[in-house]
Amino acid sequence: ERLAAASAPITDGALADGTKVPLLANLGSPKEAAKAVELGAEGVGLFRTEFLFLDATSAPTVEAQTASYTELLQAFPGRKVVVRALDAGADKPLSFLNDAHEENPALGLRGIRALRASEQILRDQLAALANAQDATDAELWVMAPMIADVEETEYFVALGRELGLRTVGAMAEVPSIAVLADQVLEAADFVSIGTNDLTQYTMAADRQLGSVSSFQDPWHPAVLRLVKLLGEAGAATGKPVGVCGEAAADPALAVVLVGLGVTTLSMSPSALADVRAELLTVTLEEARERAARAITARSAAEARGLAAG
Ligand code: PEP
Ligand code: MG
Repeated sequence: ERLAAASAPITDGALADGTKVPLLANLGSPKEAAKAVELGAEGVGLFRTEFLFLDATSAPTVEAQTASYTELLQAFPGRKVVVRALDAGADKPLSFLNDAHEENPALGLRGIRALRASEQILRDQLAALANAQDATDAELWVMAPMIADVEETEYFVALGRELGLRTVGAMAEVPSIAVLADQVLEAADFVSIGTNDLTQYTMAADRQLGSVSSFQDPWHPAVLRLVKLLGEAGAATGKPVGVCGEAAADPALAVVLVGLGVTTLSMSPSALADVRAELLTVTLEEARERAARAITARSAAEARGLAAG
């Protein structure tokens, strides 16, 4: 059934002038793959692996992880699947990874920092991913969450390669990564921007906290300007820069992101159709014009208005 779904025709995401913008799905379990393909996903731009770990009292074995990643990759023959290494922290504590209480978990030992402190868990996950890569014909890309500088990027890329992964990248969720975009794109095979966390950290506003929720808006020109730095570094190095945060699911913002140099968009599968339709209404030149206007805004609301023309 999965194979039948995966071979259904997929219209590639593209702008009005034919510029391709692959439209990918954010998934949280292999079970969601068939539905995503049905809704037009050309591949997976963010596979969150936390589901394998969250209910466990010990880390899942390499065998169990291999089976799960293989199931995912088999649903996307010949297609790109970007898997994120475990993103845990004190906000979602795992007894076998990090159980220390932290006052500010978003600023603590989370993402790559937590994995690095328990390196065997990371090694096992990357080894399982390499097994799945070698057992299927999907194109597996693997990235690490919460990377903050080039040293962490180099650490993760080297470990991924040591364990047999072919394509290894960094998520851009911490503003320092955008400031250092040239260095990071030199070291990584690709970057994927997590706009949810990038917005949270840029605006210093907890994304879970209602009282500061007005700051959690990826249209904010401060966020757009960081995306632009990453887009420019991607163009300079010829490496892909995707977006896999919620921003990609907003059709008008998706156009602006492409205008800032983003090359792929990944989102909840239910958002794919609207984004696909909107991209088809603009050329790359028009997308760049909208982006150029949006980054001059003084607020998120103004950026929305300026992009609309
Ligand atoms: C993000 O931060 O934008 C992201 C895609 O990761 P998550 O929402 O899982 O933190
Ligand atoms: Mg994130």
